[in-house]
Amino acid sequence: MADTIAAIATAPVRAALGVIRISGDDALEISSRVFSASLGDRPREMVTGRFLSPKGEVLDYGMACYFKGPKSFTGEDSVEFFCHGGVAVLASVLASLFSAGARPAEAGEFTRRAFLNDKMDLIQAESIIDLIDSETELAARNAAEQMGGALGREIEKIASSLTAIAAEFYAYVDYPDDEIPQSERDDIAASLYAIADDAKKLSGTFRKGQLLRSGVRVALIGRPNVGKSSVLNALLGMERSIVTDIEGTTRDTVEESVSINSVALHLIDTAGIREAKDEPERLGIERSRKSAEDAELVIAVFDGAVPMNELDAEVLSIAKSKPSICVINKQDIGCVIDKEIFSPLPTIEISAKERLGTDKLADLITETVGIAELPCDGKTVTNPRHASAIDRAEALIRSAADSFRDGVFPDLAVSDIEAAINTLAEITGNFAQESILTEIFSRFCVGK
Ligand code: GDP
Repeated sequence: MADTIAAIATAPVRAALGVIRISGDDALEISSRVFSASLGDRPREMVTGRFLSPKGEVLDYGMACYFKGPKSFTGEDSVEFFCHGGVAVLASVLASLFSAGARPAEAGEFTRRAFLNDKMDLIQAESIIDLIDSETELAARNAAEQMGGALGREIEKIASSLTAIAAEFYAYVDYPDDEIPQSERDDIAASLYAIADDAKKLSGTFRKGQLLRSGVRVALIGRPNVGKSSVLNALLGMERSIVTDIEGTTRDTVEESVSINSVALHLIDTAGIREAKDEPERLGIERSRKSAEDAELVIAVFDGAVPMNELDAEVLSIAKSKPSICVINKQDIGCVIDKEIFSPLPTIEISAKERLGTDKLADLITETVGIAELPCDGKTVTNPRHASAIDRAEALIRSAADSFRDGVFPDLAVSDIEAAINTLAEITGNFAQESILTEIFSRFCVGK
């Protein structure tokens, strides 16, 4: 018995259309008290009608569609209302549904119901949030493939190979006195190591997958006046932070997000690295060092028109400690710096002011980050929960392989394999605890 929930599924902004979702055993009955036309005899058909208040006042004219369970998103009887997208209109239609007996849906409750009704596995449910949150086309494509079940199938493949091997093991566990020949033990161990390698390969996609999902934090560092803000603006393609000749104007950090070659970059412009004269400046510098530390990529900017000084040297030493790109700026006035000193870091000469070489810089950034060439086939692990479970499963599989190779009692190896299978099942949700589900679905928005 599923109580009936309702929520606005679209963003609370002024828009042409707004959608309200209703799901549960009484979805049809409750909808019929609010929507003037009959829906029950026309499932999956768009029907026009009036949305009414409890007193019968017309709130809006629009359309509704009935999805008869289990052939619906949640697997339950559901109705979707297509109203006009005014904030007040949607609120009043929703209030009318509540008066008619629906209750407000909790965050992620529609998707949670879809998962509990076996309409999707947990990876697919989580990929819906990823798809909605995607900032770039690349991330969205990977999330869409995950929603289609691509990652789930990879996990299932590993789990079913393990199940097959476990079945062989059970035979030995049942007859513990039988001596297992070493050659056979080696064969099974080799199969297990191969499966562990597959798991490792899968979780190995996570580092880049995370950058794909969350974007890359890029810190722009350099002493004052080398042109950090100008580089930032060139990359953003707009004048946002104040460009000025006065040193230290960029006291704090400025953070802007931009999608370059389909990769989300979070660009952090830091205060110049130099000796602090006063307290706020010093704080800014600390923040500058800190953001370089936190960044996945550093863009170290140098003024090519003047010789390097010790502050530039300090900037370079920070750059050399991280994945970095060196930018020699002010190419339009000339370059007196010997590029050799930046080796082996990728180095590029540009003029941020004249927008010379900035396209090449954008390409160099995506190349250095190495996400652009990722196949967006949904087999890239983007979720830390999945990555950590695959890593744990891999360790258990290796431990089972070791036990078997070394002739330890097979039942120990079997229990490791079973634990690995259960760990993988946590990812797809076949073996997920209530607390994990609550944690996952609470990250959804209401109406999803
Ligand atoms: P920041 O302190 O490192 O952020 O440097 P800004 O971006 O504020 O730039 C400092 C000064 O250098 C400003 O007067 C800019 O107009 C100038 N500047 C920045 N990039 C270039 C460039 O490519 N060529 C020239 N000629 N001047 C530049």
